[in-house]
Amino acid sequence: MSQPAAGIAGRVVEDRTIPANGDWSGRMRAGQVLRLVDLEGQQAIDFLCYSAADPSERYNAADSLKLAGSLFLTTGHGLYSDMGRRLFTIVADTCGRHDTIGGCCSAESNRLRYGVEGTPNCRDNFLRALARLGLGKKDIVANVNFFMNVPAGPDGALAIAPGLSRPGDYVELRAETDVLAALSNCPQIYNPASGYRPTPIRLVLYDPA
Ligand SMILES: [Zn+2]
Repeated sequence: MSQPAAGIAGRVVEDRTIPANGDWSGRMRAGQVLRLVDLEGQQAIDFLCYSAADPSERYNAADSLKLAGSLFLTTGHGLYSDMGRRLFTIVADTCGRHDTIGGCCSAESNRLRYGVEGTPNCRDNFLRALARLGLGKKDIVANVNFFMNVPAGPDGALAIAPGLSRPGDYVELRAETDVLAALSNCPQIYNPASGYRPTPIRLVLYDPA
């Protein structure tokens, strides 16, 4: 355990630092809160979630964007399942810009886009994290990318742009039902998703007071 997390009112269940290219997965009860801290800034965190009762019900990026009425996710927005259920609500966000259209990086897309082989990637990290939940390849869907900046231009132009998060920025996610969650601390160095310099994050899971 590291020092108590600032501003957390409640009982801390888990508090850990996750290195660049690390992963995490866990089960959360309804009402529990997950705080993800971008310790050094400009660090993408790829995130997936499922209903714990039936993990075939999972995060749906398209419905979450439609319900948010925005291309970017922030405070007050829900992470919705494909069964129209709110799995999480973003209850705090000091950054204000999170993506859910860019998807996760993979060795295959890095080869296609950058001509490099065998790179560390979020897809492999998801597979490690999901295996601990009894889930696998078929359970990887379009994910949330916290702190990743994917602006869309008026002409539809799309890019992965340098992240807007500063050191210490955080997002808090409240589970709205019992959920399973998995994340990859993105190791990408071929685009600015993680500032070309992937860095550690801190994860705090707690029961609010
Ligand atoms: Zn990645």
